[in-house]
Amino acid sequence: MLLPQLAIVIPCYNEEQVLPLTYPLFADKLKQLQDKGLVSKSSYLLFVDDGSSDQTWQLICDYAVADEQVRALRQSRNRGHQNTVLAGLLESIDVCDITISIDADGQDDLDAMDEMVSAYLDGADVVYGVRNDRSTDSFFKRFTAESFYRVLNAMGVQAVFNHADYRLISARVLKEFANFKEVNLFLRGMVPLVGFKSTSVYYSRAPRLAGESHYPFSKMLSLAIDGITSLSVKPLRFVTGLGLAVSFLAFLLLAWIITVFFLGKTIPGWASMTAIVAFMSGIQLLSLGIIGEYVGKIYLESKGRPRYIISERVGMLPPVSSEGA
Ligand code: UDP
Ligand code: MG
Repeated sequence: MLLPQLAIVIPCYNEEQVLPLTYPLFADKLKQLQDKGLVSKSSYLLFVDDGSSDQTWQLICDYAVADEQVRALRQSRNRGHQNTVLAGLLESIDVCDITISIDADGQDDLDAMDEMVSAYLDGADVVYGVRNDRSTDSFFKRFTAESFYRVLNAMGVQAVFNHADYRLISARVLKEFANFKEVNLFLRGMVPLVGFKSTSVYYSRAPRLAGESHYPFSKMLSLAIDGITSLSVKPLRFVTGLGLAVSFLAFLLLAWIITVFFLGKTIPGWASMTAIVAFMSGIQLLSLGIIGEYVGKIYLESKGRPRYIISERVGMLPPVSSEGA
């Protein structure tokens, strides 16, 4: 049987502290998968540097020079985690049978890869790595992450609960995925839209081996808003519903005012007027903000700018343009 060729795609942004710890683990894992006869000898690690400003790229280049199973790409500037993973995946389309994307920091259990590849060999085209134990994450991180998945699901985005960006994707799913042209990426919500047979493997999440998380609350919030607004129009329906509800309340208020007027009473009004004006202004600004998020998305998407730009390649096949990727 011909063994599948695997690319392990590892996005790295300012990870000089963590890479010396995790690179040997990735290299060992690849060797184990090969020794077990799960993947071909031509499989490799693909580090994608996201325009790091520390020694990350130098480290990756050293690995690539010393180890022929390491390939490396460098983004021309920092573009964020999602675009970096996408760069690694799309650059592997014509080379590999399967890709596994995983963070550089050792938080995701490498041993889950054996099960992922086995699931692929059993016929799955997408295998999601799902964290079934997040006890090493802080309470705040768990709470925000859980609320995030709940809101996503309520908005109709089909993201797998507790799955981040640790997943196996087959080349044929990647080829279809390449036709999803959006610039605003939320991979964990987009991949399920491609369809094909998928399954999950479970693992417990470890703490970062070194360095700091690049996802503070503000970045998580913006990923959440991006995820929702690029995959669902439910917030716009919410605005419509809100408008209807407020109009109905306004109608009741009007009926009450008219009734009181015909009863010959006067209503002292300053406080209630102020409250109503403030309430309405709040609702209008909220609605404008929600609509504005979508207008902003249209503006950014309409430019159709490239989703990643590779400035350097080490140990790679001849350059492929990101155009049409
Ligand atoms: N990352 C990236 N570009 C960025 C931020 C992060 O490529 O602008 C990478 C980072 O090096 C890591 C992965 O994305 O491999 C996940 O980031 P991190 O571990 O900081 O996030 P967390 O696990 O805390 O959500
Ligand atoms: Mg991490």
